[in-house]
Amino acid sequence: MKYISTRGNAPKLAFDDVLLTGLARDGGLYLPETWPTFSSAEIAAMKDMSYTDVAVQVMLPFVEGAVSETDLRQIVEDTYGVFDGDDPAPLVKLGENEYVLELFHGPTLAFKDYALQFLGRMFDHILTKRGATLTIVGATSGDTGSAAIEACRDRENIEIFILHPEGKVSEVQRRQMTTVLSDNVHNIALKGNFDDCQNTVKALFADEEFRDAVHLSAVNSINWARIMGQVVYYFWAALKVGAPDAPVSFTVPTGNFGNVFAGYVANQMGLDINQFVVGSNANDILIRFIKSGRMQSKDVVETSSPSMDIQISSNFERFMFELLDRDSGALNNLMEEFKTTGQFTVSDAFLDRLKSKMDGERFNDEETAKLIGNIHAKTGYLLDTHSAIGVGAGRVRRWDQNVPMVALATAHPAKFPDAVEAASGVHPALPAFLSDLYEREERLHTLDNSYDHVKSYIETTLKGRNKL
Ligand SMILES: *Cc1c(COP(=O)(O)O)cnc(C)c1O
Repeated sequence: MKYISTRGNAPKLAFDDVLLTGLARDGGLYLPETWPTFSSAEIAAMKDMSYTDVAVQVMLPFVEGAVSETDLRQIVEDTYGVFDGDDPAPLVKLGENEYVLELFHGPTLAFKDYALQFLGRMFDHILTKRGATLTIVGATSGDTGSAAIEACRDRENIEIFILHPEGKVSEVQRRQMTTVLSDNVHNIALKGNFDDCQNTVKALFADEEFRDAVHLSAVNSINWARIMGQVVYYFWAALKVGAPDAPVSFTVPTGNFGNVFAGYVANQMGLDINQFVVGSNANDILIRFIKSGRMQSKDVVETSSPSMDIQISSNFERFMFELLDRDSGALNNLMEEFKTTGQFTVSDAFLDRLKSKMDGERFNDEETAKLIGNIHAKTGYLLDTHSAIGVGAGRVRRWDQNVPMVALATAHPAKFPDAVEAASGVHPALPAFLSDLYEREERLHTLDNSYDHVKSYIETTLKGRNKL
């Protein structure tokens, strides 16, 4: 399997190079040259398989030529072996033809674990094979940082530095990062806001001498391997509600569009998906786009669902490329327009095509709290703020009541305890394996919001670790 860039001007790469490269050299995102497909009979044969077997089945065509089936199986078994309970992704019935897919049974209680735990192990496998090392640097406002740290901890080939804005992430989120005391994990609390963290990381990547010297890499959501790790649970859930004999719909709380794009990939691979619904908070760029055909970013506002507080959905580019029949020229024109004017508008034909597959709805914080409270009162089921938006959007935007609607629950309610308790009156408890989180020792380095300080901290640390 070879991978091509959405912008059409970067070398075709095999899976292992795509994994290590992240963003394509032409600024585009990598995706497979063609979509591998399964017949109905092949999908039916997955019905009695375990989660890891389904994962191997679904991911094997994507790594073909770069990773052997034996190695892939080992990586997948290690990955989902660390998840809590027997079923990594349980499907819970919420109401008539309405289900919740619980994607919060990984080490950091958010769906990002499903891809990042896999990614960390895959990095390790490829780096070991090549005798290479990597330095991962990232900025986080919460969830991604902890999932990335858990994925990379104790891996000899990787040093990971995560910057978070000092005092501006929740205590659960901070502790999930800072209580990982592994020697290769380095938490930086920056005296600034999230944008300062992100700008510092961008500047490090732009510093070519530094980038090459430390073998800088990223684990952000544009990495193809993250999408790939998320395709699996769409099959897993669909098989439980009737696939391949009956269609299914999915509703997804959406930020960078990585999660819902993985659903689109499952659809392309032969899974019969009737409809996708995207849910947004007040940062509703996608919802406005679906309504108007005009993509226009606004300033980010803080909400009770912080993992969806985004200005623009970076993975949406992959979906546009598909809707444009993979016409890189047309895509480049739209991206160029966006860069110069801060907006672009698509054709009616494009919008019709999008709307034949996708719908969406936004909920502000007050509406989200009402959803959590009402659903808990009626069913006893407690949703986190992000997941509640998904369920709510699925309810108001579903096209066919006879098609099962599966809502992806992207975080455990205990990750956002204050908002959930205020909405439901119930204090969500952390699962047993994290119950002593508030007593664990923390380790972090507080640094001034200065590029030079951060850079020299990273260099000194790497020298101390014999990596520079
Ligand atoms: C990251 C995240 C999202 C958004 O997912 P995208 O793939 O960026 O659309 C939603 N909910 C939670 C809890 C998250 O951590």
